[in-house]
Amino acid sequence: MTAPAPAPVAVPDSVRATALALPTAQLPAYVYDLAALRAHAAAVRAVLPERAELYYAAKANPEPEILAALGPYVTGYEVSSGGEAAHVAAAVPGRPLAFGGPGKTPAEITAALDLGVNRFHVESAYELRMLSHLVAARRTRVGVLLRFNLAVSPGELATGVLAMGGGPSPFGLDPAQADAAVRALTDGSHPHLELRGVHAHLASGLPAPRLLAVAESVVAWATDLAARHGVPLREVNVGGGMAVGYTRPADRFDWAVYGAGLARLLDAHPGPLLRIEPGRALTAYCGWYATDVLDVKPSHGEEFAVLRGGTHHLRTPAAKGHDQPCALLPVDDWPHPWPRSAADGELVTLAGQLCTPKDVLARRVPAAGLRAGDRVLFALAGAYAWNISHHDFLMHPRPTVHYVDSRDVPDSTDRS
Ligand SMILES: *Cc1c(COP(=O)(O)O)cnc(C)c1O
Repeated sequence: MTAPAPAPVAVPDSVRATALALPTAQLPAYVYDLAALRAHAAAVRAVLPERAELYYAAKANPEPEILAALGPYVTGYEVSSGGEAAHVAAAVPGRPLAFGGPGKTPAEITAALDLGVNRFHVESAYELRMLSHLVAARRTRVGVLLRFNLAVSPGELATGVLAMGGGPSPFGLDPAQADAAVRALTDGSHPHLELRGVHAHLASGLPAPRLLAVAESVVAWATDLAARHGVPLREVNVGGGMAVGYTRPADRFDWAVYGAGLARLLDAHPGPLLRIEPGRALTAYCGWYATDVLDVKPSHGEEFAVLRGGTHHLRTPAAKGHDQPCALLPVDDWPHPWPRSAADGELVTLAGQLCTPKDVLARRVPAAGLRAGDRVLFALAGAYAWNISHHDFLMHPRPTVHYVDSRDVPDSTDRS
């Protein structure tokens, strides 16, 4: 059985230099390329129509430096918990926040209102009643998008997609509750809540044409709903979910096609503005996980390299079931008096230090001659990577974190 080899990745010079210059004691390390992030975000913003607002879904990577670097290119930030609301409000003060996500507690909503959050993505009929009471008690007024779990035709989704909606799920209101929810927001029962429109984040991992088809269905459905009730439709938030191709990193989400499609959709619907809230496809590419090889050994006809660190720092390949794309950085210096271990064959599986067979970062990587002491740089580690990982399992040290910006000299900060 041969799995396809992980795709080779192009490493920016500043990232490569940082990964090689770090002393071993600072490995593993997360290296974030802020210049690349800015350039990517600017390119995304540039192909979106004016009436499309870009929010960043902070849960993909809430590092303050990342949130700040995205600042000039986004209208605001989508937060999915009280913790994220407080964190993002401190990292990028004064920027618009939209509070979404299921299971908002009264305490979280109250804290978000204290922070000045004035747009909420409401996930259920119960949450609407709770929000109404909490807002009314403060004599303020907030904007509401009703999040719906709309049925999506199977053709619009695809295999390998993480579906948040379209079938039974804890996310959003059932479409059958739509009329009652709109009536509740327009019959004077909740005077402190302003119905601004509809939100739908239905799937993650879709390429541009499929994501556009979903957006078209959502806008058509929202337009019908508003028309049926004779109420204005000010905003439709069609969510995030733009695909990141972990097996083919050079094959990026086609933002130009998506932006042009949104422009056509807006032309056909002159009323509302559209909002998107990507996470992964904005920040995945700017993050790198750098580490070194501790040992290389044969096992039942295959070869394994045990790396410093593992999926407790970079859980993405274990969570999504892929091989994380990587580049190998040979290091000729060897400081120890004992000889290095090295690969005999062509293909080496890159595992971490955890005592579980699930701790594999990439299988059967072409790595002829890989030696203990060589370094490995994993790409696409800027989203759902460090922050979704089970850091404390086995109590290994945490990675150090470094921000490189080709506009200036690499700068580094220890997280420990
Ligand atoms: C996670 C999430 C996003 C971002 O999804 P990506 O796949 O990272 O683009 C956007 N909106 C909501 C409601 C989410 O839960």
